This record gives sequence, structure tokens and C-alpha cells, in this order.
Amino acid sequence: MIYFIGAGPGDPELLTVKGVRLLKEADLVIYAGSLVNPELLKYTSADCEIYNSAAMDLSEMVQIMVEGERSGKKVVRLHTGDPAIYGAIQEQMWKLEQVGIEYQVVPGVSSFSGATAALKRELTIPGKVQTVILTRLEGRTPVAERENLASLASHQSSLVIFLSVGLIEQVVRELSTAYPLNTPVAVVYKATWPEEQIIRGTLENICQLVTEAEIRRTALILVGDFLRSERTEESMLYASHFTHGFKQGCSDQVTD
Ligand code: SAH
Repeated sequence: MIYFIGAGPGDPELLTVKGVRLLKEADLVIYAGSLVNPELLKYTSADCEIYNSAAMDLSEMVQIMVEGERSGKKVVRLHTGDPAIYGAIQEQMWKLEQVGIEYQVVPGVSSFSGATAALKRELTIPGKVQTVILTRLEGRTPVAERENLASLASHQSSLVIFLSVGLIEQVVRELSTAYPLNTPVAVVYKATWPEEQIIRGTLENICQLVTEAEIRRTALILVGDFLRSERTEESMLYASHFTHGFKQGCSDQVTD
């Protein structure tokens, strides 16, 4: 069995309990050295084989996993954040299916959750915004024209942009066609790591602030009114006039 494990955003305590157990039991670990905090490897046993996938291509990675599994080892593939978001795990899973090897996926805390925790903000604000868009600009990986930032911005939802801080000028240019220039923007660098940095600004000044802070990678760009500090409507869930199934003690499903 091969386990794809979400390593979380950086803080070694943000790995799931299941992830820690599997790392302790692992005979072989491949981790994405460019983003996974090497501190997490402290959970592995002294005789665990450890490989950094940073310089490997897909077939090398899969070969190590397959050979390990076939020789009876417990294999862990450690991916940053949650592996289902820009994790490039789909192609690895397909390759394993082709050769008939079983695998499981253990979710992780995505960096966007790490960033919103650092910002102490809720992405969904009653009466204001109830939709979150996770996206990126095109880089080496193409992004379809229908997903361009300007059209996503037209929804005025809470926006989290991965893999794009190096192209912040382009991000701002595209967003400015849909959002007012005073829309709040936060850039969170290395959320939950000791070197975490938070830059707060607006569409108007964020480029300059990010350039001054020399942030070029490993950061998220968060955009939208959810970042504003003024108080807004309270959630219906805890409103005193709003009784739902559990509060009344009956077995009706809670819908909100
Ligand atoms: N699967 C990961 C994302 C991998 S893509 C997840 O769920 O978080 C890599 C991108 O994620 C980086 O370019 C950056 O935009 C973001 N990222 C990963 N870790 C981060 C962190 N600790 N703080 C801020 N952004 C991070």
C-alpha cells in the first residue's frame, strides 16, 4: 500500500493524527522537498529510507514508490498542504493504477487554511460573501481562458490565488477590471512557518508592498471584502432567534 499524505502548510503540528501515525510506520518516504517542511521527517523511524522528489521526474518518483511497495515496504508520499490542490498527484495515482498498486490518500490542511488562520479571517461572511474561489495564474501549467482571473473576479467572491505571487502585477491588472481599486488584498508568505510574513494592502498598493518585501514565491494572494475589519452581519448558526434541529433536541437535519 502507498499512502499519499497531506503534509499541511508547514507547521509540523498541522499534520493529521493519521499522517503522523503513517509517517511513524513508514519504511520509505518520498517528500516534495521544495515545499514540505523537513521538520516533518522527525516523525519517521531511524531506519526509514527518505527521498526528496524535488529533482526527480514523474517516472523516477513512481519507480521508487513501486519498487518499495513491491518489496513489502510501507511507502509514504508526502505532499504539501492538501494533496488534492495543485498537488500533481493525479498522474501518480494513474500510474499506480496502471501497474495495479493500491494506494490511499490522507487529506491535509491546505495552505489557504493556514493563511486564513494567520490572517484571523473567515472566508465566508454572512450577508456579504458565501463563495470561495481557489485559483492560479497560468504558469508552465496552462489555465483555460474561461477561468481567467478577470472573469472569476466578476463574481466578487473570496478569492485565493496560488502559485502566482511572482506575477503579482498581472494578478492586479486582471483583477482591477472587476474589483474596485480599494478592494483589500493580503499576501501571506510561508503561512504557519517560523518565517511567515503577512502583507496587507489593496489592489492599488499591493504590488509595491510585495516588491518591497521581496516576496517572490511560497505565498498566497487573498482578495475580497472578507479581509475588511469592520463588523458585519452575524452568522445565523448562533443567532438566538434561530433554532435548528440540534438546538431543539430533535433529530432533524441541520441545514445551516
Ligand atoms: N497542495 C498545496 C498547494 C501546492 S501548490 C496546498 O494545499 O496548499 C504550491 C503553492 O501553494 C505555492 O506556490 C503557494 O502559492 C502555496 N503555498 C504552499 N504552502 C504555502 C504556505 N505555507 N504559505 C503560503 N502559501 C503556500
